[in-house]
Amino acid sequence: MSVNVSILDPATALAGHLTGDVIAPGHPEYDAARSVWNGMIDRRPAVIVRCADADDVAVAVRFAAERGLPIAVRGGGHNVAGTAVCDDGLVVDLSAMRAVRIDPSGATVHVQGGATWADVDAVTTPLGRATTGGVVSETGVAGLALSGGVSHQRRRDGMTIDNLVSAEVVLAGGRRVRASADDHPDLYWALRGGGGNFGVVTSFELRLHDLGPEVFTLNVAYPVADAAQVLAGWRDAVADAPDELSTSGFIWSLPDIEELPAELRGVSYVGIGGMWAGDPAEGERVCAPLRELATPLVDMSGPAEYGAFQQSLDPYFPAGLRYYWKALYLRELSDAAIKTTVARSMRRPSNDTLVIIRHCGGAISRVGAEDTAFGDRSSEWMLSIDSTWSDPAADEENIAYTRAFFDAATPFSTGQTYFNFPGLLENGDAEVKSTYGENHDRLRRVKAQYDPENVFRLNQNIQPA
Ligand SMILES: Cc1cc2nc3c(=O)[nH]c(=O)nc-3n(C[C@H](O)[C@H](O)[C@H](O)COP(=O)(O)OP(=O)(O)OC[C@H]3O[C@@H](n4cnc5c(N)ncnc54)[C@H](O)[C@@H]3O)c2cc1C
Repeated sequence: MSVNVSILDPATALAGHLTGDVIAPGHPEYDAARSVWNGMIDRRPAVIVRCADADDVAVAVRFAAERGLPIAVRGGGHNVAGTAVCDDGLVVDLSAMRAVRIDPSGATVHVQGGATWADVDAVTTPLGRATTGGVVSETGVAGLALSGGVSHQRRRDGMTIDNLVSAEVVLAGGRRVRASADDHPDLYWALRGGGGNFGVVTSFELRLHDLGPEVFTLNVAYPVADAAQVLAGWRDAVADAPDELSTSGFIWSLPDIEELPAELRGVSYVGIGGMWAGDPAEGERVCAPLRELATPLVDMSGPAEYGAFQQSLDPYFPAGLRYYWKALYLRELSDAAIKTTVARSMRRPSNDTLVIIRHCGGAISRVGAEDTAFGDRSSEWMLSIDSTWSDPAADEENIAYTRAFFDAATPFSTGQTYFNFPGLLENGDAEVKSTYGENHDRLRRVKAQYDPENVFRLNQNIQPA
């Protein structure tokens, strides 16, 4: 369907052409619909199209292209850079497209483009099945899945992109295609790491694995004064860990919860956390050395229902706080990298800021750099600086802290960042090139084929060749 692109305002021009809703300034839901998870983002789109189905997506994309309106695509709205909304443009809002269904084969799950991980887990975990997704259940599937996707079971099952079997995509001109190993294989390659550059994904088909219902979860808090020793001990202990074990070492503050003694609440600590994606008793045995790296302040490890574990971090990442996160991959977790990480972490301007090193490798590293758009996977360690605060007056201080930390860690890095934690997209082209490395030229050619006008550009943008 072609929409009249006359001088009518966007909401009026779109009326009658959509099954879903059109939300424009003045609409009672406008402010709620334009807000995203990061409270720093305050953008005012010309119109928000809350799509009901893929046909609506096609109408919205065509309409925006014909009018020359910038397009933002909203999956779960969780990206720290806030690219799910834009000023003066059109938002393709998928938040009403959240259906999840198991494929009749039982091997995969079909997930609509606006679903969150909570939507997926609600369907899969009761069956003792899971795909690799985010560790906070309110995060959107789409953004996470298109730029990698690291989960609690990442070393056993790979990244989310490694489990993408097919995708239904609305392209820049509004055409709908399926991408898989057999259909549009170049697009299928690009979607696995290339972010939102190639079209709007209205449905993902993701591979399922046996998991749970019970898993062993690791969560030990040690004194922050022991941080360097604990992180080095963790690194050495997991060097040859089985793939079932995915862990992280981090510096954070203990939460203000009644399960903790009053004197520990709010105290900075070094933590070792993670999950064993296998038999819980075996997990407890394998994790034992990680619980003795120093004298713990508190050890909250133990068996848990996987579905509940997936929601256990949700309260610590509420919508509306101010967030500026940046991540990079390390060549190795050397003593010097640990020293820098610990020294910088001790100076966190906000108690809510989390500094986390994720152990990657395992199944992630067994996929070749050119097999998916994501690029090189040889790094075993991802350092992420998750700055989090609440006072707008502290924006400058927290952003400057994160950037200085990132710069100090850069000499230890492979040159790749992780695009699901993109800061505010400030380094543009340079980061895109260094992160995609050898794959960048090929991505540009695929972009030229599927989005030659760069309609989808509010992202880590790949310029068409
Ligand atoms: C609290 C929290 C926890 C997180 N935990 C993890 C984690 O465990 N593992 C991990 O890997 N990452 C994690 N992330 C990062 C997360 O992967 C990114 O923030 C991701 O962008 C979120 O996806 P979304 O759909 O909610 O994003 P949105 O903000 O909705 O979208 C981000 C971008 O993705 C693209 N996009 C979104 N939907 C579509 C679509 N349907 N089709 C095409 N393009 C689309 C667009 O370019 C859009 O600008 C976490 C983030 C937060 C805030």
